[in-house]
Amino acid sequence: MKIESRMKSMTWEKKVALAATEKDIMEALDHSIEHWKENKNGKGECSFSASSCELCTYCLGFDNECKRCPIFILMDMNGCDKTPWRSMEKHVTGKHGKEGLDFRTFNRKCPTCLKIAVKEYDFLVELREIIKLAKTEIRKKAAHKRLVEKERLQRVRVAALKREAK
Ligand SMILES: [Zn+2]
Repeated sequence: MKIESRMKSMTWEKKVALAATEKDIMEALDHSIEHWKENKNGKGECSFSASSCELCTYCLGFDNECKRCPIFILMDMNGCDKTPWRSMEKHVTGKHGKEGLDFRTFNRKCPTCLKIAVKEYDFLVELREIIKLAKTEIRKKAAHKRLVEKERLQRVRVAALKREAK
């Protein structure tokens, strides 16, 4: 339901931009989802640095900007602003700053950290779903256009035949 209402309120331009997400970036998104699956289970490095995110690594590699990243396209925000990732950064620097944790690593024993990690995982999974829905919607629109054009040409042909028959 949440995704459906989000799709409804999204501009066509944004859907087009998201649907244009190329294969390499989709793969990077899959990697990020896997990374956050580990994170939310308190496994692995529990890192939320850009260097541990395939999307950051891939997209920043081009021009040192977020522009190509589907998170940027969806949120209209640089640096994962307004995503659960930003909450993690704020929480870790605020709450765990004095614990000697490496900045960009969260505390796997902290319930709040794990809760935010779940939110980030859900957000990324939702993003993947939104991209897929946008791709499908655009394919459907293209198919509908083809059908309308086919029907129009058919009407033109029928009209021409009728004129010839007179
Ligand atoms: Zn915490």
